[in-house]
Amino acid sequence: MRSERILSSQTGQGRIPRELFARLAFRVARAAEAQFWLQDCSSRIKRKRFPGRLAKPMGLTDKFGRTIDYLRLSVTDLCNLRCCYCMPAEGVPKLSHDDILSFEELHRVAVQAVSLGVEKIRVTGGEPLVRKGVVPFLAWLAAIPGLRELVLTTNGMLLPRLAPELRRAGVARLNVSLDSLRADTFAAITRGGNLSVVWKGIRAAVDAGFPPPKINVVVMDGVNDNEILDFAGLTLHQPYAIRFIEYMPTLMNTGWDVRSVKAPEILRILESRYSLQPLQHTHSAGPAAEFIIPGAAGTLGVIAPLSMPFCSSCNRLRVTASGMARGCLFSNDGIDLKPFLARGDQDLREALRLAAENKPRGHRLMDKEPQFTPFAMAQIGG
Ligand code: SAM
Ligand code: SF4
Repeated sequence: MRSERILSSQTGQGRIPRELFARLAFRVARAAEAQFWLQDCSSRIKRKRFPGRLAKPMGLTDKFGRTIDYLRLSVTDLCNLRCCYCMPAEGVPKLSHDDILSFEELHRVAVQAVSLGVEKIRVTGGEPLVRKGVVPFLAWLAAIPGLRELVLTTNGMLLPRLAPELRRAGVARLNVSLDSLRADTFAAITRGGNLSVVWKGIRAAVDAGFPPPKINVVVMDGVNDNEILDFAGLTLHQPYAIRFIEYMPTLMNTGWDVRSVKAPEILRILESRYSLQPLQHTHSAGPAAEFIIPGAAGTLGVIAPLSMPFCSSCNRLRVTASGMARGCLFSNDGIDLKPFLARGDQDLREALRLAAENKPRGHRLMDKEPQFTPFAMAQIGG
């Protein structure tokens, strides 16, 4: 499952220093992104000239030629924590019971998405494990014929109790959010989280047979950026995949721009102590650029939606707990699936197709005035 190493031939004899190679890897990815934006212009021109020649795709494909095979399904917008980068301290306005899709409806969405080529579903939230009945629902999802992988993102607070049941339900892997290795900082970031409970949950997951969870760390200047090296040190002897994530704007009032630590700075800090060996990109890495400290048991990853957008290879469609299908976190466009759910599966498939087709080319978060309505990540599923 671990990504293969690619470096030996390029850097082994010191022809390209590893640190430089890490930076080059980022540049290459950026160049690919630029090419995607250019290609988009030319493919639009072609579509205008030869509109009739485009065959209607059978699966989920967008206007820009990307295949959508990954569904992020949010089962609730509620959470037992209040992470400062995700939610306001008072939480988000509670959706009424009628506004939330039932498990039957969420399952229908998942079945139709899989019939359209979705291979991987990530269940998220809010905190997915706070929704009553979620474990049997996950087992139901896992049994969908054609689904290759069911994975879950959690804050880990309920894992000590639920890890064995989740494993039995057929969840293949877990991502756990854990932004600090210090109990007081962790409690402050999450506004009340208990670090030892999350570690207990991670151990319970491994004991239950899960592969070592991916650990998501949102890096914030002056909050936890002084722990980047501690997190990296954790991978020396433990097989965790630590993924540093750039803090993205959501609520627009959390001072994200001064707090957000960008990938080049994260890499600079890592390289101040460790030599990083880039890993070949694999499907399971998703948008993360992955590295390993030579000889380490675990891996490091950087997810850089701001400084190294991965829009050109974005294969995701999101469905919120209230049934909005969205092609991008940072686009206000979405399709309300509720009326289509009421009509039948054929209509539901068409709605999913339309949502995929209308996926925007990219998020444009670095524009001077990004065009999206402030939201809490928990309302869409990060
Ligand atoms: N409650 C679960 C959890 O915390 O893992 C799942 C939902 S949470 C919204 C999903 C992911 O979004 C988490 O890894 C979280 O760190 C990330 N996230 C939330 N707000 C973010 C922000 N402003 N910038 C970057 N990542 C964010
Ligand atoms: Fe809850 Fe996850 Fe958002 Fe934290 S990041 S407030 S745990 S939904």
